Amino acid sequence: MAEVLVYVDHVDGAVRKPTLELLTLARRLGDPVAVHLGPGADTAAPVLAEHGAVKVLAADAPEFAEYLVAPKVDALQAAYDAVSPAAVLLPSSAEGKEIGARLAVRIGSGIITDAVDVEAGEEGPVATQSVFAASYTTKSRITKGTPVITVKPNSAAPEAAPAAGTVEQLAVTVADASKGTKIVSRTPRESTGRPELTEAAIVVSGGRGVNGAENFPVIEALADSLGAAVGASRAAVDAGWYPHTNQVGQTGKSVSPQLYIAAGISGAIQHRAGMQTSKTIVAINKDAEAPIFDLVDYGVVGDLFEVVPALTDEIKTRKG
Ligand SMILES: Cc1cc2nc3c(=O)[nH]c(=O)nc-3n(C[C@H](O)[C@H](O)[C@H](O)COP(=O)(O)OP(=O)(O)OC[C@H]3O[C@@H](n4cnc5c(N)ncnc54)[C@H](O)[C@@H]3O)c2cc1C
Repeated sequence: MAEVLVYVDHVDGAVRKPTLELLTLARRLGDPVAVHLGPGADTAAPVLAEHGAVKVLAADAPEFAEYLVAPKVDALQAAYDAVSPAAVLLPSSAEGKEIGARLAVRIGSGIITDAVDVEAGEEGPVATQSVFAASYTTKSRITKGTPVITVKPNSAAPEAAPAAGTVEQLAVTVADASKGTKIVSRTPRESTGRPELTEAAIVVSGGRGVNGAENFPVIEALADSLGAAVGASRAAVDAGWYPHTNQVGQTGKSVSPQLYIAAGISGAIQHRAGMQTSKTIVAINKDAEAPIFDLVDYGVVGDLFEVVPALTDEIKTRKG
């Protein structure tokens, strides 16, 4: 069976969920071969094997941490040369997309980014994308070279399918040309204890209706009762009520959780662009005519300052 390269997103060997989703999708196309760059391959290997990796190609080099993505592209290209895969799958993070795009240029292949599904097709993998603010769903196939596809988080449910997951060291030579941008400092983001917005299974977002930074704890309390991430509309972040890193939408982050709850958000097209592929959408808005109600699965017409705390209390009660 053909092999499919899967680029592993991890923190010191702790594999992030989007990679497990990629392994699940990769199995539709062939035998997944995981590419693990940086420290922690031995920690990651059992998890990758559990989700279907027949092999784990591992490489660690100081350059991965010292420079921006180019050395990792050198390593992924080395894996590509070693395996001659049928496809290369990466997570649709900013880093995943840049690595994928650079690899595609180097190997003369086409690339599809932000896929929400990948299936095997007679003439190669077929990727589904949700485009133009999710007004269209497209299916595309790469016609040149080895398909390189980046897939959005939450596009598949990770399924276990134990495989060997044998770790093999990958020899990597980092080219001088890949050392063009050096990282000069790192500041860890202050942890909120909440899941990462783009990977969270549940997102609770607040908009202009929240009416002030001092009211965002109402949104956070609901999020915490559900183990959710907190998002915000651009109106809310531009007003300085919530950090820009939490903005959902065309010029913010794109999320596709199992459940998206929008409170006090009107549903402008630029906001929809970042959340419309969510599996279940719930809106709370006091205006029954708000456009957000056109796309919801469940809508509550009401004041968020009554509805959201009541919902939070009910969830806490049910959880016991
Ligand atoms: C180029 C460009 C890019 C953009 N990118 C983004 C983007 O990435 N993300 C984004 O979000 N926007 C983006 N915007 C802005 C977008 O057009 C909207 O202005 C923005 O989304 C509106 O935010 P909102 O829904 O919070 O505010 P509003 O449109 O003002 O809606 C507030 C809603 O809250 C409701 N409300 C008020 N009080 C309550 C209450 N007590 N209880 C319940 N409901 C209440 C109101 O009925 C209303 O529907 C972009 C715009 C442009 C031009």
